[in-house]
Amino acid sequence: MPSTENQFAIQDPRTQYPQPPFPEQPQDAPGLASKMDPTPDHGEESYVGFGRLKGRKALITGADSGIGRAAAIAYAREGADLVLNYLDSEESDAQEVVALAEAAGVKVTTRPGDISDESFCNQLIADAVEDLGGLDLLVQVAGKQKAVESIADITTAQFDKTFKTNVYSLFWLSKAALPHMPPGSALINTASIQSYAPNANLLDYATTKAAIVAFTKSLAGQAIEQGIRVNCVAPGPFWTALQPSGGQPDDAIPTFGEAVPLGRPGQPAEIAPIYVLLATQESSYITGETFGVTGGDPTP
Ligand code: NAD
Ligand code: MG
Repeated sequence: MPSTENQFAIQDPRTQYPQPPFPEQPQDAPGLASKMDPTPDHGEESYVGFGRLKGRKALITGADSGIGRAAAIAYAREGADLVLNYLDSEESDAQEVVALAEAAGVKVTTRPGDISDESFCNQLIADAVEDLGGLDLLVQVAGKQKAVESIADITTAQFDKTFKTNVYSLFWLSKAALPHMPPGSALINTASIQSYAPNANLLDYATTKAAIVAFTKSLAGQAIEQGIRVNCVAPGPFWTALQPSGGQPDDAIPTFGEAVPLGRPGQPAEIAPIYVLLATQESSYITGETFGVTGGDPTP
């Protein structure tokens, strides 16, 4: 783990965080960050805010763990009030995020529930607007990934659930949120290296992640008419509960991240800064863009 005394000190990024091999550690989906070995670094000890989101009102999906938790911690320390969405079974992970956000001195509420359901998505936006007194950041990080070797073994139920969770939720939540959002607001979506370089065993997931890139670019063209920016982050391999809970075959976890040029998975703390940048007014000229954070695997 990086020195918490000065996380800005120069160091070799290849050895900055844990490297393979890792223990096999199967969990049921959605996994819990608290059960992972080594414990993911979401910036709990290291993220330093500068008030760049002071007074902002953010709804974050998938906020209990992994990339969403890292974004939530960073946003709180940058001064944003938060509404956190996640699944009911993830309450224990979520409460750790609530405690961290409260310690940062911002207002935080939780609105757990299943975003693969349209009526829940509409309710989530209404609840977020009520909790926050408005909404100017919609950060969609939640996602479903289940590795299956053959198309013959992907059920229609899985295909449908992956699309509902990863793509339809984007449509439902963005559609419900935009009428509430003032000029200067930002939407941030989460794609993947899988959008561009799909693994054979992630057929349904990779297809949704490609869709998210196109969705982002198309919606950006519309939303700027309201003064709202829409961007996307495309992670490579990150050390999160998504992967040992079926996102990868269990026997792929020991070498997870080894194949990228950095030779290790990213830690959620290493991707939070781009979610911050895309939310702040510092990125005022950036919209319809996708930012790869891949450990060196090239994106187009
Ligand atoms: P994670 O498991 O920590 O986070 C994913 C979250 O999605 C879960 O915590 C859960 O709260 C939420 N979620 C899943 N299904 C849901 C549903 N039906 N309703 C509401 N919430 C639901 O894993 P993560 O890696 O931090 O994933 C965050 C995002 O990053 C996902 O979109 C994922 O596809 C993307 N991503 C991850 C990696 C990686 O290697 N970890 C790589 C590329 C992209
Ligand atoms: Mg989780």
